[in-house]
This record gives sequence, C-alpha cells and structure tokens, in this order.
Amino acid sequence: MLAVTGAFASRWLDGRMRHARPRKRREGREHAVRKGGACWLLHGRRNTSGLAIVLILLTNDDGIYAPGLAAMERALVSLGDVCVVAPATEQSGVGHSITFLSPLVVQEVFEGNRFRGWAVEGSPADCVKLGVAEFCPRRPDLVVSGINGGLNAGINVLYSGTVAAAIEGAFFEITSVAVSLEYDPHADFDRAARIACHVIRQLLARKGPAPQLYNLNIPLAALAAVPGAETRRRVRVVPMGVARYGEAFERRVDPRGRRYYWATNEPPPPAGEPETDLSALAKGWVTLTPLDFDLTKRAVLAEMEDWGLDLPELS
Ligand code: MN
Repeated sequence: MLAVTGAFASRWLDGRMRHARPRKRREGREHAVRKGGACWLLHGRRNTSGLAIVLILLTNDDGIYAPGLAAMERALVSLGDVCVVAPATEQSGVGHSITFLSPLVVQEVFEGNRFRGWAVEGSPADCVKLGVAEFCPRRPDLVVSGINGGLNAGINVLYSGTVAAAIEGAFFEITSVAVSLEYDPHADFDRAARIACHVIRQLLARKGPAPQLYNLNIPLAALAAVPGAETRRRVRVVPMGVARYGEAFERRVDPRGRRYYWATNEPPPPAGEPETDLSALAKGWVTLTPLDFDLTKRAVLAEMEDWGLDLPELS
C-alpha cells in the first residue's frame, strides 16, 4: 500500500477530512457488504504508519465490462482500496455530457461472489458524480479513468469520455488521472496498467501544490520490452496538441435509398514543433499532460477589459 508522506500528504488528507461527511447507510451498500464487497469492509482502514489508505474511484468510458477497466483495477489494488463506478455500456466520445432529463439507473455488478462495482446507465461524468456523492464510503483521494482502448491525445481530449471523467474528479478537487492505451484489438492492458500504476504512484508521492488533473497516454510501442531503449525509461511531459484531425465521412445509401454518413477514422495530424502529446506518442513515448478545465483565454480577457462594450437602451 502506498504511504503518503510530507506536506502534500497532510494537505491532501486534511482536505479529505474537511470534506468528509457522515453518510447514511444505504440498502445497496449493505447488500454489497453482505455479498463480500471488500471496498466497504475496508472503510477507515489505516496502514502500519497510521496513515489512511488511499481510496481510489475507478471509472472509464468503455463500460464496466471493458478489459482496460479490469486490468486497471487489478493494478490499482497495490495502491489502495478501489471503488468501481462505471458506465453500464460504452460511452466513448460522449465528452463531458451529463444526465439530468432522465433517471440514472444503477446496478450492482458481481463477478461470481465478488462485488465489482456499480454499473451506471449514464456518462463517465455521471459516474464520477455518483461515485463521490453516493457510492464511495468516503471522499476518494484519487480518481482514475481508464484504461481506455485508444489514445486520447490532441484535440480528442475534448471529445473523450475518459478524460471528461478525470476532469469531473478535478471539479471535486481530487487528483485525477485519465489513462489511455493505443488501440489494438489484442491490447495487453495488464502491461499498460503496470506502467500507469507506476506513474500514478510517482504523481501521488510528489509534494504537489494542490490536487492535479493528468492525462496519461501509452503507445503500443511502450509495451514492448526493448532493453535500453530511451523511450522505455522515461515519461514525456508534453502539452496537448491542438492541430485539427482530418475530417472525412463515408457517404452511403441505406436499403431504403436514404443517404447517410459515417465518420471515418482519420490519422492524427502530422507532428510538428514544438513537441506535443501527438508527436511524442508517434515516437513511442509514454506521455503525460497536466490539464486544466478553465477555458478562459486570459490574454484576450485582459485586452477586452479596455473595450468598453456596452448594451443598448431598452425602452
Ligand atoms: Mn473509450
């Protein structure tokens, strides 16, 4: 288990205590405990140094049955207690959508006798909201979203349900990490999860100023064991690329003669300078990008303060 120490740890843990509030016992939770839901039995557990054990809220956008989520869960148990709240069905590309016009139906998911988590008929952001507000036995210390099947780099970050879940975690001022692996139908998610866990462990051990939001991408090349290869030893910390991907739609005709379009999967834009997540990933680096969700363009904001924009006289 990860022992969190230093100033960052105390701020982190204090922050958690401040936000912690008594939670009512709920029918579903008791049911989970009865069925052997370890997550809840470990509530309030401390390690040998007396430090609270890290509570991790794990979600994704590929759905609760996705292999990437299972691999991430297997790896994260070495860091702390894992609470899984994930979409019931695949939500890739839904971005930061939320559900409020319809109810969020939730079902407990078991693997044999073992309670795995909650399947939410909603978006990844819904899962994080519900996870923090309802299902975690206390405020989580960390939100992990993934492992996504497919990279989430460049402007795809803004379409990504995987990244949106991490952003939602950051809204709660919880350190959050989105994890994505380059698409491969036979992807070795367990290997990728080992990489992700190793990086997350280092991020948590940093005496950072405040909870942070990170986007971690793992190219398939990084899974290959190439002793001595430079790209195997370091994580590349890079900004998000903002070049537009090629847009293409295949035009087709359905059996009733109606025209329809299907977006094709265009390759990322060619890599330029300076280095971005896209160019570093193309070279086989594991990339890490700190993100922020404040979309204000500060330079223009400052300029606009002098514009003296006014409103019409309304009679
Ligand atoms: Mn996905």
